[in-house]
Order: sequence, then C-alpha cells, then structure tokens
Amino acid sequence: MAEETIFSKIIRKEIPADVLYQDELVTAFRDINPRAPVHILVVPNKLIPTTNDVVADDELALGRMITVAKKLAADEGIAEDGYRIIMNCNQHGGQEVYHIHMHLVGGRALGPMVIG
Ligand code: AMP
Repeated sequence: MAEETIFSKIIRKEIPADVLYQDELVTAFRDINPRAPVHILVVPNKLIPTTNDVVADDELALGRMITVAKKLAADEGIAEDGYRIIMNCNQHGGQEVYHIHMHLVGGRALGPMVIG
C-alpha cells in the first residue's frame, strides 16, 4: 500500500488549497510555488505514486487529466498562446510528491524545454 502524500489531504479537502476543479476522478489546484503566471496541478483522486505504477484501469483518470487541463487552460486564458504539460517521475525526473500529477504551466513564453 503506497504512502499517502499531502495531495490526498487536498483531494479530501482536509487541508486548504486553491482547488479549481474536482470530479469523481481528478482534482486540480494551483501549485503553492508557481513557476509561471499560471501553474496548476491536475492529479488523479486515486493515489498512484509514480507513472511507473500506472495500470490499464487508470486510463480513464489519466485521459480526464488531459481534458481537465485543456479546460483549465481555456479558463485561464492561455490556450491560444500555449502552455506546457509536465509529469515528473522518480529521482532523475525531479519528482518531489509521490502522487502523480500533471503540471499545467503557462502565461508567458516558456522557451525551449530545458533538460538540466
Ligand atoms: P514534482 O516536483 O513534480 O513532484 O512537483 C511537486 C509540486 O507540488 C511542486 O511544484 C510543489 O510546489 C507542489 N506542491 C507541494 N505541496 C503543495 C501544496 N500543499 N499545495 C500545492 N502545491 C504543492
């Protein structure tokens, strides 16, 4: 059984967060340390620690994450100019919170993808 992270508490509304969207599969909230004018995290409600742990039954939630990111990009007014979607995995991917999440980042020109 995977260990819960702070994101499970946000999903259950046990701790405060700027939640923008929630349904039966996913939750989206603003990143607490935004790296761009728009920086939103879209997470599955189910605890999946890393993308290595994804199984076929998760495909509906993972697809929902994309459609919710698309909707939020439009709501935030960044759809036309564009944005970046990022998912980090494990140590080399720079993952800090072990509950998979999609970063939706935009609101300025982000430049070429940097692999540090
Ligand atoms: P990652 O490095 O891909 O695991 O990204 C984790 C992200 O979660 C970082 O961008 C953090 O700023 C963000 N984060 C951590 N704790 C919170 C929180 N309580 N509310 C919102 N975002 C958070």
